[in-house]
Amino acid sequence: KENAQANIHVLQNGKEKQTKVLPKIVSSEDIQEARRKLPVYSVRGRLIEEIKKHQTMILIGETGSGKTTQIPQLIHEYRLEGNGAIAITQPRRVAAITIAFRVAAEMNTEIGAIVGYCVRFEDVTSIKTKVKYMTDGMLLREAILDPLLKRYSIVILDEAHERTVSTDVLFGIVKLAQKERNEKKLNPLKVIIMSATMDVDTFRQYYDNCPVIYLEGRTYPVTIYHSKMKQEDYQYAAVCTIFQLHATTPSSHDFLVFLTGQEEIETVMYNIKQIAKEAPGPPIRVCPLYAGLPAQKQLQVWKDTPPGMRKIILATNIAEASVTIPTIKCVIDTGVVKERTWCGASGAERLRVSTCSQAAGWQRAGRAGRTAAGAAYRLYTAADFAARPLHATPEIARCPLAPTILLLIAAGIEPNTFPLIETPPLDSVKSSLLLLKELGAIDNDVNPKLTTLGKKMSMFPIDPKYAKVLLSAPEYNCLEEALSLVAVLSSENIFYSPMHKREEAFKVKQKFISPLGDHLTLLNVYKAFCKATLKKQWCKENFLNHKNLSYACEVRQQLLTVCQRLNLSVSSCGPATDQLLKCLLSGLFTNCAWLRGGPGMAAGARYVTGAGAAASVHPASVLHAVRPSPPALLYSEMLHTRRTYLLTVSVIQPQWLHQVAPEYARRCRASR
Ligand code: ADP
Ligand code: MG
Repeated sequence: KENAQANIHVLQNGKEKQTKVLPKIVSSEDIQEARRKLPVYSVRGRLIEEIKKHQTMILIGETGSGKTTQIPQLIHEYRLEGNGAIAITQPRRVAAITIAFRVAAEMNTEIGAIVGYCVRFEDVTSIKTKVKYMTDGMLLREAILDPLLKRYSIVILDEAHERTVSTDVLFGIVKLAQKERNEKKLNPLKVIIMSATMDVDTFRQYYDNCPVIYLEGRTYPVTIYHSKMKQEDYQYAAVCTIFQLHATTPSSHDFLVFLTGQEEIETVMYNIKQIAKEAPGPPIRVCPLYAGLPAQKQLQVWKDTPPGMRKIILATNIAEASVTIPTIKCVIDTGVVKERTWCGASGAERLRVSTCSQAAGWQRAGRAGRTAAGAAYRLYTAADFAARPLHATPEIARCPLAPTILLLIAAGIEPNTFPLIETPPLDSVKSSLLLLKELGAIDNDVNPKLTTLGKKMSMFPIDPKYAKVLLSAPEYNCLEEALSLVAVLSSENIFYSPMHKREEAFKVKQKFISPLGDHLTLLNVYKAFCKATLKKQWCKENFLNHKNLSYACEVRQQLLTVCQRLNLSVSSCGPATDQLLKCLLSGLFTNCAWLRGGPGMAAGARYVTGAGAAASVHPASVLHAVRPSPPALLYSEMLHTRRTYLLTVSVIQPQWLHQVAPEYARRCRASR
């Protein structure tokens, strides 16, 4: 019954979205015409034969050749999936959603019926769904409950070259599932690995020399220009390059600029709009494209501009391979990317802006040659390019593995013998197991078994640290607050502070601020949002992001459902906010920092984290300018740019750590 209801809800959701998201941009004939022009179309007969013949295959093709949108449809047209469904994984949530919408439109059906998508906190599928786009993380979650993935007859692991941790683990899961289904004489599982250009040999070996099929792309030459001198400030260099080109190239040439994240994109967008008022050149439309952007806004990117108007797309690396924008003739590549990296030994996790690989550089440049010859302007020197690594380090070698290891153990898979395509650093496995043990998720870190607590933790679709926060909340009488806070932390930035109204936004923010830091401030905003009646209007007045706050409400609801299933008592700590911070510490004890040196040091107080890294409070934190600096802090995230910053920070009492996580506190003191 629960399922049936979920489906109805989902379908309604889907319909609602469809009317909103799919204005008549292209008529259905145009869509069909466009499909017939894709490289996949002309070889579809042979492709189907190959897919029929092999149980596992690797399919390589240029971005834009039609792999992601066409191949699942093609398989469905020929009903190769039989009674099962086709799962297509994407490393990125936005890609899964926008592609599912596109495919539903191409098949002229509503989203959530034959074609659906499933991403964290949002399941738009039904029993009818045959073509299911999903994030790799979601399929991995499904594998806990059903390691044989029995509901699927075909699993397509797409964007394999991105080598996310989840996709890497899925390589192994599908391999094992296929083998076991064969042995048990269950319905066979077909596996297709799809990717833009990649290191094929590793994959072939891993899949016992399975066949590799190359799809020919249709690309035009792209002229590459490198910067002559090293650029100190890539944002500034990007804006300069945009306007130099803007003054000299025809308006029909659209630009694609690669930047690292939402904030940076917003800043550059504002600067472009300001300068454009006076700069020579045709009128422009600037379109942002990043993961947190609502699907409707993303579609702007594919909307034609009126004749004589130039489109400038400011994108993160999601435009590198996951999505294709056909009209781009000019790529401006800053050569950087925001990456989550992690130091296994110290347990410090960080977001870092780093230079991207040569492979990424070629991918980016390639975006300019989709429909005609184009040009790519690299804002770094040729020597710099040559010195870069050929491929990016797979995520598994630079990310915290605790969430993944917990999932593996929950799926009954022994993490130490699991056949991964690439062995993660031993340090990193060790420290992740240690963390899981200190969180109370596993009984020991040598031959780990899930504890009762660990089993509960694995039921939450969030980082085990935050799952622990929710599970300890009843003890601190604060599940009400913990749910709201974790929901907000699972969403994108809820504050909206446009460049030109920074000061005004800052003033308005004051009324939400808690002297104890960002977590309670976020909670204050969330509570006020829930009380507000005209929410959209209220958000606008308070410089808050309505979409992200609404999303947080949905997330909270889903987390609440899990808590209720676990019979957790939902109560509120009221004004005793200390309780909430202690509760937060019970999951985030590895994220503490202590003041070093005298109070009131210049240029922001320097803190030292539990892992020994020196860092300061980020300027966006409400604690940034607080003096005297609090002696101990708890942070949600660490960011590395030119300096190391602590993001989303709260004041804690130093002695709490010993009360809340004695084992870790001892280890931490011993190492200092
Ligand atoms: P691949 O997976 O091989 O990179 P895709 O199947 O994602 O290729 O895309 C094939 C083509 O479909 C793109 O080149 C683009 O022209 C078109 N396309 C894909 N998604 C959309 C969309 N949301 N809106 C309009 N066109 C799209
Ligand atoms: Mg694709």
